[in-house]
Amino acid sequence: MAPTNLGGIGLVTEDVHICKQAAVPLTLEGIRTRRAKAGKLDAPTASYSDSDMFKAPQPPSKPKAKRWDHLLSAESAARRPCVLKQAAKHLKKPGLVSLGGGLPSSDNFPFESLSMRVPTAAGGFSHTTNLKEVAIGKHDVRDTADGVLDLSIALNYGQSIGSAQLLRWVTEHTELVHAPPYADWRCALTIGSTGSLEAAYRMLGDRARGDGILTEEYSFSTALETAAPLGLRVYGVPMDEQGLLPEKMDEMLSDWDVEARGGGSRPRVLYTVPSGQNPTGATQSEERRRVVYKVCQKHDVFIFEDEPYYFLQMQPYQKGANGSNGTTTTSASTKGNGESSGDADVEAFLRTLVPSMLSMDTDGRVMRHDSFSKVVVPGSRVGWVTASEQVVERYIRHAECCSQGPSGFSQAVLYKLLDEEWGHDGYLRWLMHLRDEYRARRDAILGACERFLPGEVISWTPPAAGMFLWLKVDHTRHPHAASKSLLELEEEIFDSCIDKGVLACRGSWFSAEHDRPLSGLFFRTTYAAASEEQMAVAIERFGEAVRGSFGI
Ligand code: PMP
Repeated sequence: MAPTNLGGIGLVTEDVHICKQAAVPLTLEGIRTRRAKAGKLDAPTASYSDSDMFKAPQPPSKPKAKRWDHLLSAESAARRPCVLKQAAKHLKKPGLVSLGGGLPSSDNFPFESLSMRVPTAAGGFSHTTNLKEVAIGKHDVRDTADGVLDLSIALNYGQSIGSAQLLRWVTEHTELVHAPPYADWRCALTIGSTGSLEAAYRMLGDRARGDGILTEEYSFSTALETAAPLGLRVYGVPMDEQGLLPEKMDEMLSDWDVEARGGGSRPRVLYTVPSGQNPTGATQSEERRRVVYKVCQKHDVFIFEDEPYYFLQMQPYQKGANGSNGTTTTSASTKGNGESSGDADVEAFLRTLVPSMLSMDTDGRVMRHDSFSKVVVPGSRVGWVTASEQVVERYIRHAECCSQGPSGFSQAVLYKLLDEEWGHDGYLRWLMHLRDEYRARRDAILGACERFLPGEVISWTPPAAGMFLWLKVDHTRHPHAASKSLLELEEEIFDSCIDKGVLACRGSWFSAEHDRPLSGLFFRTTYAAASEEQMAVAIERFGEAVRGSFGI
């Protein structure tokens, strides 16, 4: 079978026809079969790739995404393809001598190889840590039979969408986990969600139009700090323990009063963190997500789904069974003898996750932001977006003149770990392991709260995902509730916490609308890093600070 060379990527023509008939959900076995049929990925320096090269050909029954031209900002609409990146497509022509792009020769790269020690999926991650040495050389593709990415490729300039090697992995992962229900979805690698969100705001928000963004009443502070200097007003939607309330959002959008909103036009974008929301820890149920999506359809609102905590969805909290010793049962990643139990347990794990909005997105109105920060390492500065072809194309135009895509070092290291070492099933086993780790941590902090906090004034909802616990302090019971503002009480408790040796974030830092009165007195705590003992000490100190302020 002759490979069809699509911008330097080797694909097998016949396989494309074979896949065209398939519309079945992707499985781990399906990925292995697809890869075996496609043969070795041939993606040299700066080769162009897109998700369509790696996902199943979409059946004609699948709808195409809506167009979003009416939402594009003037800035985004004005972006033209980077001519130098476009020229790279000619590099694939056999015999061509390039005097074109300023790509340095890898002969002058002062890196012959990189090596790292990483845990292996074999034997599971929960008990003993099996470490393995993994290396990537400068010319593995040229010098070894199975080399797919090497330092000569990874460390040179590449396309802003990311390397084909890692793009293939995220595309397969996205199809496996979310199976977007429209045809022309695509992925692009990013420098993490902070960067992709900033680009997204600028793509679909335009201060000249008076654009604004809807978000949860308490929202990720950096997302708020990103919007403000862009001149995009942020409007908070009331929440409950499952996050934003779609009926309130519907009311706000139906009765939008431009004058009362200081001249801000009706928002056409929603920024939401559906799982383990930062700061409240709230997780939207499947039903909640479907209703939010419906409201967005009704008002033609585009959705930025920011999901760094998606895989940190945990088993429900059982009161009284706190602490890692009390409730931790190891994930079903391996049989007792360390032998892998096949794909079934991993695929069962996927079915326990609340479906994403991307998985419900028949319109192509979701731009999903995924990140390796919370589930591999934050310093990789790698994530990816998934959206319609139109939206991803605009994102790439932005990245071409900005980050130029993620660092080659990060891409090389992640590719080696995720693709060659762990594979999709190994990565999912890693996530199952992480979920257990976080569950033990969550249970420990909740146990400490039950022991040390005055229940008559402090309440909380056990988080179902993520790394944050949101503590609500009943300010109405404070002896100075009538004379002191919420901000004053918050400051008093915060300062006392610092005196006693605990840092908890003030709820007001996350308020979506700083010019509106706070709806309550809250503190955000995290169970991500402190030890069980440290968490107990910290929560006890927090309790003392609140007791001191309330005089109880
Ligand atoms: N979104 C949310 C909701 C977050 O909590 C964080 C990290 N605190 C980020 C995005 C940042 O992610 P990244 O490291 O990928 O930029």
